[in-house]
Amino acid sequence: MRTQPNIIITGTPGVGKTTHCETLAQSTGLKHLSVNEVVKERGCHDGYDEELKSWIVDEDKLLDAIEDEAKQGGYIIDWHACDLFPKSWIDLVVVLRVDSEQLYDRLKSRDYPEAKLQENLDSEIMQVLLQEARDSYDEEIVVELSSNTTDDMESNVERIEGWVKQWREDNAQ
Ligand code: ADP
Repeated sequence: MRTQPNIIITGTPGVGKTTHCETLAQSTGLKHLSVNEVVKERGCHDGYDEELKSWIVDEDKLLDAIEDEAKQGGYIIDWHACDLFPKSWIDLVVVLRVDSEQLYDRLKSRDYPEAKLQENLDSEIMQVLLQEARDSYDEEIVVELSSNTTDDMESNVERIEGWVKQWREDNAQ
């Protein structure tokens, strides 16, 4: 049994995952597990795709790399996919959503190649991550939250903090 919860914060790149995770790590004491960094630092990839400017992730290596930590609990997993993590590891899945205009501006300022920018805008419009979350986890643990404004972010953070507090009370030994 885990004594701390694991949360996935997912969504299209640019939606605000890192910002939410960093704030939540500060306020809850849970650890921010940036899958991007794990992939890079622990070599969980089959090289780099120059065209898309992203790592080609080896999911088996990635799961092996984080299994011990995840089983312990206490992590906020930050990644633009969620269907690879075993259900038994995960207590809450937050899918952040953003309007197209906002997302366009955020990705543009990151100098994304046009193809990658378009792919991500399409993915957000098609609710790809929301669908992936709903297909992969029980509906009671999947929450969709807006991340258009800083007010949105503050209320999301408060809501997740409240959830963590409740989880800890419910699972106190
Ligand atoms: P992700 O980790 O999902 O790629 P980031 O957390 O890096 O997204 O956020 C991308 C950019 O958008 C950052 O400049 C961040 O400050 C901004 N941003 C994210 N969420 C919000 C929000 N809810 N309101 C305003 N700006 C935001």
